[in-house]
This record gives sequence, C-alpha cells and structure tokens, in this order.
Amino acid sequence: MQSSELKNLKIAVVGAGYGGAAAAKALSLLGARVDVYEQAHRIREVGAGIGLRPATMNRFREWGIFDAIAKVTSPSEYFEILTATGDPIMKEAWPADGEQTRTHLIHRGDFIEALMGVLPEGMVHLGHRLESIEDKGDRSVLTFAGGGTVEADLVVGADGIKSVVRQELSGDRGPVFAGEHAYRAVISLDAAHGMVTDDNLRMYIGRGTKVYLLPLRHRGQVSFDITALCPDGAWTPQVTRDDLLKTVEGFDERLVSITRDLDMDTVNVRAVYDIDPVDRWHSDSVVLVGDAAHSMLHHQGQGANSAIEDGGALADALRRAGSVKEALALYQATRKPVTDELQRVSRQGWSEDEINEVFPGQKPAAAAPQE
Ligand SMILES: Cc1cc2nc3c(=O)[nH]c(=O)nc-3n(C[C@H](O)[C@H](O)[C@H](O)COP(=O)(O)OP(=O)(O)OC[C@H]3O[C@@H](n4cnc5c(N)ncnc54)[C@H](O)[C@@H]3O)c2cc1C
Repeated sequence: MQSSELKNLKIAVVGAGYGGAAAAKALSLLGARVDVYEQAHRIREVGAGIGLRPATMNRFREWGIFDAIAKVTSPSEYFEILTATGDPIMKEAWPADGEQTRTHLIHRGDFIEALMGVLPEGMVHLGHRLESIEDKGDRSVLTFAGGGTVEADLVVGADGIKSVVRQELSGDRGPVFAGEHAYRAVISLDAAHGMVTDDNLRMYIGRGTKVYLLPLRHRGQVSFDITALCPDGAWTPQVTRDDLLKTVEGFDERLVSITRDLDMDTVNVRAVYDIDPVDRWHSDSVVLVGDAAHSMLHHQGQGANSAIEDGGALADALRRAGSVKEALALYQATRKPVTDELQRVSRQGWSEDEINEVFPGQKPAAAAPQE
C-alpha cells in the first residue's frame, strides 16, 4: 500500500501483551494511526523468564528498539537438554550457524515494560475490555464493557488464548488442556545451589516432568520452572509444596533442594492449554495475532517469539499488498504454515523420539528417560 494510504489507516489493537505491543510498534512505524485497547487496569506479567530468539531480536533491530530490549537481557549461546540427573542429551546452539544475533534471556515483566516503553505516549488505553465486534466489511466497530465504541479500518485481535476477537471471527472451539501444569518462580542465584554458572538455558527431563533453569544473571536471578503431568485442568489449580516435590522425585538433589526452598507465595501455578489450529485468521478488516491466532504449548519456547514475528509480518504484508484485504490474506499465507507446524511440534513432549524429530540428524548424547 502507498504510504499515503497507510497514514490514513485507523488501526485498533485489542490486547497489550507481547503480541499487541509488537503489532502496535510495527504498525505505527508504517505511519498508521494505532490505538491499543487493554482490559487490565495495570500491565503485568508473571514472574518467569523467556528466551528471545535471533529472529525476534532482529525484528527489534529493524524497529529501532534493539537496545531498549537488549539492555534488560543476558545474551545466551545455547539451550541444553539433560536427563533428570544431569546427563547431557542434546544441545541446540542459538544462534544457529550463520546467524549473527544471539538469543537473549529476559524476565517477562522487564520485557513487557520495555515494549510498553517504546510505544508513543497515549497509544495504550487501559481498562477497555472488548465485548463484541460488528464487522462491516471494510471496517469494524468494537464495543467495550460499559458501552464505549470505537470504529477502525483494521482490528488486530491480540487478546490471547481466550480471544474474544477469535470467537467473533471463527466460531471458536476454545482452549485445549494439555494434561500438564506449569509451576514458575524467579529465585535468587544464591538459591540455585550452584547450578547456574553461565547464561545458557537448561532443561532436565524425566518421568513426564521438565525442569527449566533459565538464568537472568543481569538481575542476579534465575527463572526456575517445572512442567509436570497432571490431570487437573482448572486454570489456576491449587497445589502444595509437597505436590511440587513429588514431581521432581529422582531429579538431581540440587533441583529437589531448590524446589523445597521455594516461597510458595511467589510460585505462579497454571494448567497448560493451547488451541487447535484456526482455519481463518481474518475477515476483510479483522485479523488475529499471537496466542489469539495460534496459542501453542510452551515446550519449544516459541509462543511469545511467534507473537512478535506476527506483528512484523503483518506490517510487511500491509506495505507489500495493494489493499488491507489483500494484506491480511498475505499475512496469513506467510505466517500460518509456520505456526501450524510450531503448534504441532509443541504438542510433543521431549521423549527421545521427539527430540529426534525436532533436531533431525543429531544423535542424542544419551538416551532420554522414559516419559
Ligand atoms: C508456562 C508457559 C511458559 C511459556 N514460555 C515461553 C517461552 O519460553 N518462550 C516463548 O516465546 N513463549 C512462551 N510462552 C508463551 C507466551 O507466554 C505466549 O505465547 C505469549 O504471552 C502470547 O502473547 P499474546 O500477546 O499473544 O497474548 P497474551 O500474553 O495472553 O496477551 C493478551 C492480552 O490481551 C488482553 N485481553 C484479553 N482479552 C481481552 C479483551 N476482551 N479486551 C481487551 N484486552 C483483552 C489480556 O489482558 C492480555 O494483556 C509460555 C507460556 C506458558 C503458559
């Protein structure tokens, strides 16, 4: 689209998570008038770390915000998978050969704060919970709780796994329970029993449990996460310290000690859900990004990274296509095959067969324990 057309475009982004914030940044750089509507009255994220992959960091470089993000991260060289007792199984270099940019480890709270910090003042409107959308073809009308309405040429649904925008667009089937819980906490390096000595992500697996140590050494902390099998699908289940200790039985004694020492008031507990692939991500004036489009399990660490990539791809498509309608089709054609595959692979755990599928041609250093 011509830059004069892009400048006249009024875009409403629903949701100020990573997907909404990234889309808002990328679309505002096109010159469009962008407003973000977020239901929460305060932007918050859970206490946990994630890895920002090279492609994500490259997007930030393109948007001129690399330094603002990188300054609250630690660059990392690899992700290692080990048995419950610490025998190496597999190592994935990040960056892969040929990539210049490294993966950067970040605290989720720092990440959303840094993203919010690079959006123009006044762009984000808190306390706006979307209730419904009237799709009028070349534009749409949003109605928020309390009755307020907004009209936009393009609505970007970045409202997460339980997306209202997706429900309005596609007659949604809703989230799917994975039979797992995620327990996440950020602890001091001193409480890590000497297990963190560099900036690399490690995952220990055994008996269906995965324990992640994601260093945040720039904060003097480490993100300690357990993903464990559990049939209780309540979104925020009640669990005790003893429940956590049962999930790490037989693991390296130091991991058991970290678990025993956790302050349970600081542990984020949630059941793990994703969605089945959605056939159509858009109408002529409404489009989905991030978890709203393709919520995936966290086993590949790709959900937030994909949400950022969506924002970049949507902006690219608007620049290249002749109209909004064409751009939305181009965006889906570019991104959906990638995220369909990530959704599929992320539903795998990490048994030996599954490691072989994700890292084809690489021989595991040792057999993975039975899942
Ligand atoms: C245990 C776990 C570990 C993970 N680890 C990783 C990892 O290591 N790496 C990685 O890349 N990803 C990871 N993820 C996935 C990642 O957290 C998500 O993919 C990412 O947060 C999705 O961002 P989003 O902006 O699309 O959605 P969300 O973060 O869910 O944001 C949606 C926003 O929309 C708002 N909203 C919702 N409904 C409305 C409404 N009706 N009106 C207005 N606003 C609304 C919400 O309040 C929220 O602010 C993990 C996820 C889990 C559960």
